[in-house]
Amino acid sequence: MPKRCLVCQHERPHVFSWTALLSLAPFRRDLLPPLHEWLCAACEAEADWIGTGCIRCFRPLEHMDQRYVKETEQGLLCYDCQRWLEWENKRGASPVLDWNRSVLRYNAWTQELIARYKFRGDERLKYFFAAVIREHARQQGIDTGQIDLVTAIPLSSGRLSERGFNQSGLIARLVAETWQRPYRSDLLQRQGAEEKQSKKGKQARMEKILTMFLNNPACQADIINKRIMVIDDIYTTGATVHAAALALKRGGAKQVFSYTVAR
Ligand SMILES: [Zn+2]
Ligand SMILES: [Zn+2]
Repeated sequence: MPKRCLVCQHERPHVFSWTALLSLAPFRRDLLPPLHEWLCAACEAEADWIGTGCIRCFRPLEHMDQRYVKETEQGLLCYDCQRWLEWENKRGASPVLDWNRSVLRYNAWTQELIARYKFRGDERLKYFFAAVIREHARQQGIDTGQIDLVTAIPLSSGRLSERGFNQSGLIARLVAETWQRPYRSDLLQRQGAEEKQSKKGKQARMEKILTMFLNNPACQADIINKRIMVIDDIYTTGATVHAAALALKRGGAKQVFSYTVAR
């Protein structure tokens, strides 16, 4: 069995067998190998791991103009999160999203990997993405025992039938297994079609995006007072995970966090 790098397919020296991994039934969390066992040295060097960032959204801050970064008791807060804080304070609400953590910088390498997974259907990459989230959370010292439920951003039914699977859902299910927390796919429902970039102002667009999801009324009892982890592939503006978090908070969730593969 050739031992190839998951990403570039070049042979790599260590033993790793997809056949062995894929035939595991049921999936065993202790068999999700560590990062260096998936990649050749060259690809491992391309994986740009995010170690620190904004305390809330985990935006890397080292290249940011320090005038836009605010020091708080808990740590540094980016400009976007300062705006979120204002928005929440105006409504007298608790944080919409308690925090986000992202594992990899969205460089060309990560972009290619995610495109292969999402658009070209390379489903086995879910194991890699679940492994990097697990490894990152471990390094960040996140107490995953505090999480009551793991869920994922739902796709619209149109996208779901076009793509055949919810890419974030597959990752979330594996992450939930590695953390030994329950996975639920039905906590959120998408309202209407997926949002296209509109010509409305930024504020109006934001308000519209925030209505993107509803909490599932049938899951009310499961959402109330729970600490919920939402998994998604990419954090861009953060609007999607904030919209999901808002829906869950409106359903009574105690805390909502998100883990995204890239940003
Ligand atoms: Zn490689
Ligand atoms: Zn931030």
